[in-house]
Amino acid sequence: MSTLADTSVASRTAYEPVIGLEVHVQLLTATKIFCSCSTRFGAPPNAHVCPVCLGMPGALPVLNRKAVEFAALAAMALNCCINETSMFARKNYFYPDLPKGYQISQYDKPLAEHGFSEIPVPGGKKRIGITRVHLEEDAGKSLHEGFPDSEEKTAIDLNRTGVPLIEIVSEPDIATPDEAYQYLTRLKEIILYTGVSDCNMEEGSLRCDANVSIRPRGQKQFGTKTEIKNVNSFRFIREALSYEIARQVEVIESGGKITQETRLYNSQEGKTYSMRSKEQAHDYRYFPEPDLLPLVVDEKWKAEITKTLPELPEARRARLVKEYGITEYDAQVLTVSRSLADQFESAAKAAKNPKRVANLVQGELMGRLKTKALEIEQSPISMRGVAASADLVESGAISGKMLKDLYDLSFERNQDFPEVYEAEGRPQQSSDTTALERIIDEVIASNPKQLEQYRAGKKTMIGFFVGQAMKASKGQANPQLVNELLAKKLD
Ligand SMILES: [Zn+2]
Repeated sequence: MSTLADTSVASRTAYEPVIGLEVHVQLLTATKIFCSCSTRFGAPPNAHVCPVCLGMPGALPVLNRKAVEFAALAAMALNCCINETSMFARKNYFYPDLPKGYQISQYDKPLAEHGFSEIPVPGGKKRIGITRVHLEEDAGKSLHEGFPDSEEKTAIDLNRTGVPLIEIVSEPDIATPDEAYQYLTRLKEIILYTGVSDCNMEEGSLRCDANVSIRPRGQKQFGTKTEIKNVNSFRFIREALSYEIARQVEVIESGGKITQETRLYNSQEGKTYSMRSKEQAHDYRYFPEPDLLPLVVDEKWKAEITKTLPELPEARRARLVKEYGITEYDAQVLTVSRSLADQFESAAKAAKNPKRVANLVQGELMGRLKTKALEIEQSPISMRGVAASADLVESGAISGKMLKDLYDLSFERNQDFPEVYEAEGRPQQSSDTTALERIIDEVIASNPKQLEQYRAGKKTMIGFFVGQAMKASKGQANPQLVNELLAKKLD
């Protein structure tokens, strides 16, 4: 491993990696793409099947309208053009979990094309082209373990067969494993904002295959590529690509040739292994699906779908920074999901002073979350709680110090702010002048030396008295009032 890593460093200037990604995203429709079987995850094996998704002779597919809308929405969010007419095609191959012997996909006339996504790179942004977004059905699952006879037999679960997917194919514009990681992170974020998928990698709702080759820097022609399949986290994809690039450099430097093949990544060893030689498109004998009409998304339908396109993360971040005066970093954290950004904005709008909500999130919430190593979704204080606390400070009911203490209690007890505030008996900062005057008199009487200094002209001494009075009131006094009363009494 270490020799490979070294080769990679030494050859970074000599070779240039070329990476393209194919991402499969499962759409959140209630039913499958060509039949009315449920798509729900986690049902007993083969509970959600029918003649259509089992590929029985004579069964006919009927296209799910929602799947088309979701696919088009995702494609629009990725800046693609929606083709008015697209075609379904049969992709023929044999696999035990593919009962029809072919997968219904799209080939030369996909639903959408010519998109792009922007990723952050050192010193700016880089545009990664998106070749196409097409619709297809998922295959079933082969289960190689978990049964008493798993040693000899493979079980098949066809619940997933016919679940709608989109495949998002990037241009080979990605130059480093880091860029691949950024591209996937952005892609997932955008898809989540559109709400067309939950992008849950553990449940296979988002899967990624990576094509990677290297070429001498400056050469136009691509080198032979390998495909890394079924890597189940973005971090592993980055690692797998780093390994594969180093491996290819080593093969070429030692006079060998790269074989076009599919490789699997073993995350425990941090290595890729050859799985099979890579199929070419012609191996699949694609032909138009005779059981389905061409898919037509006309202007009217397209306009309806466009209306459901939400504000996307990048635009939202820019707006939050501008509207609420928060930092780029906090905007990033607050827009990590659409629901969190919605919560923040509705809390900020409901509060008397939206800017104060933003300030509390930035000044009081983020730091405490960081200390406790919590994600913002795990915060004991909800955005509603932040808004409630902001209003209490705004109206002068509680002081900043009291808010800090109440936030500490919230984190200690893992309770939202309003609950803690109630449990603590709705504490109020004291504006009872008589009680305060008594406290101040005591403070003055018990500090004759400081009083002398003050009267001798050291006016900054007032800070000392304010501090003592606040302490004596256990932080409950209104600091402004303490200041006023002290000034009156001392002079
Ligand atoms: Zn079915």
